Amino acid sequence: MAAIHTLGELRQSGRRSRPVRQEIRENLVCKLQAGETLFPGIIGYEDSVIPQLVNAILSRHNFILLGLRGQAKSRILRALVDLLDEELPVIPGCELHDDPLAPLCAACRTRVATEGDDMLISWLPRDARYVEKLATPDVTIADMVGDIDPIKAAQAGLNLSDELTMHYGLLPRANRGIFAINELPDLAGKIQVGLFNILQEGDVQIKGYPIRLRLDVMLVFTANPEDYTARGKIITPLKDRIGSEIRTHYPVTRSNAMAITKQEAWTERAGGLPVEVPAYVREVVEEVAFQARADRKIDKRSGVSQRLPITTLELVVSNAERRALANREALVVPRVTDIYAALPSITGKFELEYEGELRGAEQVARDLIRSAVGNVFTGVFDGIDTRTVIEWFDLGGTLPLGDTMSAADLVAQTRVVQGLRELAERTGVLKGGSAPAVASAIDFVLEGLCAQKKISRSDERGYSAADTAPRRPTRREEQALEEEIRLPGPKKKYYN
Ligand SMILES: [Zn+2]
Repeated sequence: MAAIHTLGELRQSGRRSRPVRQEIRENLVCKLQAGETLFPGIIGYEDSVIPQLVNAILSRHNFILLGLRGQAKSRILRALVDLLDEELPVIPGCELHDDPLAPLCAACRTRVATEGDDMLISWLPRDARYVEKLATPDVTIADMVGDIDPIKAAQAGLNLSDELTMHYGLLPRANRGIFAINELPDLAGKIQVGLFNILQEGDVQIKGYPIRLRLDVMLVFTANPEDYTARGKIITPLKDRIGSEIRTHYPVTRSNAMAITKQEAWTERAGGLPVEVPAYVREVVEEVAFQARADRKIDKRSGVSQRLPITTLELVVSNAERRALANREALVVPRVTDIYAALPSITGKFELEYEGELRGAEQVARDLIRSAVGNVFTGVFDGIDTRTVIEWFDLGGTLPLGDTMSAADLVAQTRVVQGLRELAERTGVLKGGSAPAVASAIDFVLEGLCAQKKISRSDERGYSAADTAPRRPTRREEQALEEEIRLPGPKKKYYN
């Protein structure tokens, strides 16, 4: 398109702009025919959201995405940009991005009339055709549609207004592009009426002056389903003009969720130490979000964003990085205990129900981590005998470990616990693995046993025998008991 510089050349080229929703539709059809991946980077929506989205676009609908926070709604809307033509011919300097072949505004019409085929045109890249606005109750018609200077308007004696006196708002500036409004129900009813009028009738009243604006815009919205249905703050005529209503959701499987977090979290730190995040650490971080979404102490209506595991993983890596730097280690391997250092990225990401308020955000978060560790540990250690290690603690052993302890120290200090290293190897860490990796695996085993309440951990004593549960018999005692049971006579009563 670089070869076309003037209106005359554009006319000759035969290239005609299409209405924006037709353009997006046609480009989508091409991608579908070519078998291209649609919406790359959006994970877990292949069978749910994306087919509905494709149908909406093929139908040339304005649409709304309904979903809780952190469900990639804004990301989907921004990805629509890829469905626009790479460049669009426009009249230079026009705020409406007027089509050189069919200008809307009076100034451009005048230019075309006077300059004719020699008029220079410019090419607008597609990124510049996407306008996004977060709706808040204080957004005005002036922000959205525009404003006029009433004195100028009166002086000019305007009837159906002359756009020369108008300061355009966001919507006109999105002309021939996509206008995204996030959290639509937060937009005042009056503004929604204004939007509707522009879409439906092509005119709007500003300060009592009727303004005619035949805009060509694809409108897309997001909303929280609670606001949308329960509070019903989207005015009916506008709701009626929204062709499709598409529901988003949180990742259904842990592996999808892990893939999203892996893609989004900043863990590979250029210029820093190499980072190796063990699979079980990723799983526990993800499981914290799953637990939170199911926890009745946490408000379901506001949801638990996917940003929770993303920022948590970043803090987990940072805590491990800090330890590695302090201990002059060459490799960063996060441990499960590092997740407790990520509380600042967890407690702010959910709203508590009354019961949760009583317990306090920090304690709720600690409970979530503990049960997440328990779940993941149970999965990894299903059917594996952990008694040897538990016995060591039951016999009075204690391990005072801290999350700042170097990997070498941790490995050395835990060597006294029989069977611990063997259990740690069940996580997949190699026999000759690096000290930070082995330390992390050992930490996972200890935290897992804590989560299962088979051993306990306190700030003063570190790891020790479970203090709440009754003491389990050691294997030797169990054997002794079994032998006793086989004996005839009154000795049987020991078993009670
Ligand atoms: Zn113009």
